[in-house]
Amino acid sequence: MQKPFRASEDSIKKGKWWDLGWSLVEGCQTVDLSCQNCWARQQAQIRRNQQNPKVRNRYTAVVDNAGCWTTRIMPQWSDLNRPLRRKKPAVWSIWNDFFAEELPIDFQEAAIVAMLHSFKHSFLILTKRIERAAVVLRLLEKADLWPLPNVGVGVSVPTQEFAWRIDHLFKIPAAMRFVSAEPLLSGLDLRRHLDDGHPTGKRLDWVICGPETGRHRRPTRIEHVSDLLDQCVCRGVPFFLKALEIDGRVNKLPELHNRLWDQTPRGPFVVL
Ligand code: SF4
Repeated sequence: MQKPFRASEDSIKKGKWWDLGWSLVEGCQTVDLSCQNCWARQQAQIRRNQQNPKVRNRYTAVVDNAGCWTTRIMPQWSDLNRPLRRKKPAVWSIWNDFFAEELPIDFQEAAIVAMLHSFKHSFLILTKRIERAAVVLRLLEKADLWPLPNVGVGVSVPTQEFAWRIDHLFKIPAAMRFVSAEPLLSGLDLRRHLDDGHPTGKRLDWVICGPETGRHRRPTRIEHVSDLLDQCVCRGVPFFLKALEIDGRVNKLPELHNRLWDQTPRGPFVVL
């Protein structure tokens, strides 16, 4: 049996902390500076030129000719049962932002129900819209659909300026809470969120870190990665280093201080 929230070793070797992407939401809107070279937007721009009209229509709706988001958000109702059809346990990462303001709550509810019935899988929901996440998940909690032991919630923290998102994350009941510092664009001081002394009594279960990739990537400073790693190691919080740029090349799952950092949350996953 696969360990909850740990992707297969094949995925991890490729620097992936998930096994399968679950494209539940097409379209997005820029939220912060880390969206500048958004991978999802670039992929949508490529796919809007596809021959297949079904694929083309899906993406022409969400990105325009210039490659900018149209701001239309399209829930993918037809993909809701994908995990239920897969027998082999997997860690699923949900794309794009599951807590986009425009998504109907009915859709979020249906997706959470699909996760509830896919108990052999685990799911990672990463968001930059944690305030909206709190509203949605509170409503689902009232309907006895949240929290779920196989679903982790994380926030993107590309710079110190966005560490406030973790304080909101701590207000949400969840089995596992994580931070993705991808791309890491400044030094981060997360001691307050890694120690036991946070006023909410919560602490982070996992930190993921990596640089920006692609042609227009901005640099991630190795000393910032190293400092974040030290903060996690000192407090026993698992750290996953997805990639590093070394001599102008992005290396997946690289060594840092003579070892790989492919740690994943340890559990037990008690809903708090
Ligand atoms: S929130 Fe994520 S998907 Fe949306 S624009 Fe930003 S990087 Fe892209």
